[in-house]
Amino acid sequence: MKYDVIVIGASPAGLMAAWKSAEGGAKVLLLEKRKSFNSNPSPADTSFEGFFKMIGLEPKEEYIIHKVKGMNIISPFGATITIDTPGFSIDRRRFDAYYAEMARDAGAEIKMNSEVLSFNEGEVVVKEGGGKKRYNGEIFVCASGINSELIKATRLKTMKYPEDLAYAIQAEMEGVKVDENYFHYFLGREVAPGWKATISPKGDGRASVGVFVRGEMPKKYFDGFLQRGMFDGAKILSMSDGADQIITIPNEIVGDGLMVAGGAAGQAGIPYGMAAGMLCGDVAVEAVREGDNSKKFLSRYDEQWKKRFLNHYGLGRFCLKTMGKMSDGELDETMRALEGVDVSQHLSKHMVMSTLSMGLLLLRKNPKLIRFAKYLL
Ligand SMILES: Cc1cc2nc3c(=O)[nH]c(=O)nc-3n(C[C@H](O)[C@H](O)[C@H](O)COP(=O)(O)OP(=O)(O)OC[C@H]3O[C@@H](n4cnc5c(N)ncnc54)[C@H](O)[C@@H]3O)c2cc1C
Repeated sequence: MKYDVIVIGASPAGLMAAWKSAEGGAKVLLLEKRKSFNSNPSPADTSFEGFFKMIGLEPKEEYIIHKVKGMNIISPFGATITIDTPGFSIDRRRFDAYYAEMARDAGAEIKMNSEVLSFNEGEVVVKEGGGKKRYNGEIFVCASGINSELIKATRLKTMKYPEDLAYAIQAEMEGVKVDENYFHYFLGREVAPGWKATISPKGDGRASVGVFVRGEMPKKYFDGFLQRGMFDGAKILSMSDGADQIITIPNEIVGDGLMVAGGAAGQAGIPYGMAAGMLCGDVAVEAVREGDNSKKFLSRYDEQWKKRFLNHYGLGRFCLKTMGKMSDGELDETMRALEGVDVSQHLSKHMVMSTLSMGLLLLRKNPKLIRFAKYLL
């Protein structure tokens, strides 16, 4: 059987690529190695309404399990900046199943328990039902995640700075005592060098608790974080770990007959992966219609995604790198300048403008902070 589009991996990117290409009339096969959406769900389980709006989607009650008003960012010595921007925790099993159903309704065929072993020249080899099977396709969308071995075989350098990946340990816990109206992000070298420790409430004392670290392994920081008072008497229900692409930059994400999306392409975050998947789907439909699966044609996906989102990654990398050069004392001093300020009012739709206005606001609040400008170089 020959397919127009074969999507590898039911990640947020893969599910959306399957949905969009099927909706556009292509014959689509989505291959996923997990047995079901209930087995081994991804630890990524939070997002914000603003992100979904940015990519033209509405978050759905079917998978939302808890809503928050925004986020608290907590400095190394306890200053708290509150940003009011509605967010939500999701049940990943229900989230994946919801978008899989949408793809199926649009006509995509989905095979679970179907692990792709290799793909080359229009053919995928799949481990399925104790044996090997082969499927043929015109266009492959590889959305098999950050750990995907398949990407190595393509020889594409899909992301810049892979050495900067953050490594994370996350636990699903109960009995966590925090304000459940906010996600809580703790910064500083002592708590999580290079990135953050997070508490994402899910209601009734349940929360995802994660520690994301760059340049070191997260275990000792995770153990240290759990010593805090809000975890007294709390219980770990399950654990997961993984790599987060937060500070990598998407690079070579298309080849002949191939588009790479989501974590495999260095596109951190659920909404960015979903946006990439939708663009892959649209471009795949055009490519099928034109009978052209060349790298040149498929580069439309690369161009459009980078035009819309690459500056977000550049800025994110720049901000995290700058933060990484600060001592905990300096970071604390900077954040204290914004304590009690309604930061949400200064955030514009455009990240560049938001960052600039935040910088100016910081200097207005505490002109002495100008000495930290050296870190921008
Ligand atoms: C601990 C942790 C917490 C995070 N929390 C958040 C969060 O709250 N919000 C957020 O936006 N981002 C979060 N992230 C980042 C997020 O996980 C990624 O940026 C990205 O969204 C995950 O999608 P992915 O494309 O990497 O694919 P994944 O979600 O890893 O999905 C890949 C899929 O492909 C399948 N697959 C792999 N290989 C094959 C194969 N050979 N054949 C068939 N199928 C295959 C896998 O089984 C899997 O279903 C978190 C990351 C970590 C590590």
